Amino acid sequence: MKEFKSFYKEVGGNEGGKCRYNTRLDLYGCGCQHDCSYCYAKSLLDFRGLWDAKEPAAADLKKVARKIDRLTPGSIVRLGGMTDCFQPMENINHITRETIKLLNARGVGYLIVTKSDLICEYMHILDKALAHVQVSTTWIPTEKAVSTERRIKAVETLQKAGFDVAVRLSPYIPQFVDFARLNAIQCEKIIVEFLRVNHWIRKWLPLDYSEYTVHHAGYDHLPLEKKIEYLSRVTGFDEVSVCEDVTEHFDYWREAVNHNKDDCCNLRK
Ligand code: SF4
Repeated sequence: MKEFKSFYKEVGGNEGGKCRYNTRLDLYGCGCQHDCSYCYAKSLLDFRGLWDAKEPAAADLKKVARKIDRLTPGSIVRLGGMTDCFQPMENINHITRETIKLLNARGVGYLIVTKSDLICEYMHILDKALAHVQVSTTWIPTEKAVSTERRIKAVETLQKAGFDVAVRLSPYIPQFVDFARLNAIQCEKIIVEFLRVNHWIRKWLPLDYSEYTVHHAGYDHLPLEKKIEYLSRVTGFDEVSVCEDVTEHFDYWREAVNHNKDDCCNLRK
């Protein structure tokens, strides 16, 4: 198994300045078996020959343990900010499972972002005071992760069991969304993240991108008016937040929409 050495990152720049949880533990890297056509990580690594979707590299658990020993109890790290920590190879390697146990022992919180329902098999080790989960839910037909229905089931199972969980509509591409199903999901919270595109994503996910006229930090985005219009179709949740990259749009969502103005991930703490 190849070793993923850059498993720990403090994210800065445009993203880090907006995201409250910018300490990342990515336990698998240099590829993700879900291999989504709109993946930002893939669009940054593939053209350099650094993306292997069949056999991603995995972090060395001993090194992860040493890093966790230096984290401050009470802080929160993001698991799966770059690649999915619950991609199929976790079924064999269990690195995410062991990392969660280490985080529990250290008293460090973890924000998990995943497209897998494997998270439900780990419910017995998730600490309700430390675990925050966002399950990415889309209806994009090219996806290789488990079905949308299985992901919805995972969200509802976690919500029912009393975990801090949100649907993550990411990326939100309105033409692919089953709004009747989305708005019927039994979950209090939703985080919406609109699609942003670069040259590679346009190539891998060919769509009509004529509405993506705002350029920011190397990507093309929908204008704010379009985003507001599309957000109005998301109606089935008590608490709505938007995860945003474009600075002016970020300011708008924070003031006008986000359930918690200080935390667009809207974690229960
Ligand atoms: S699951 Fe996330 S990290 Fe993995 S390929 Fe899809 S978008 Fe990229």
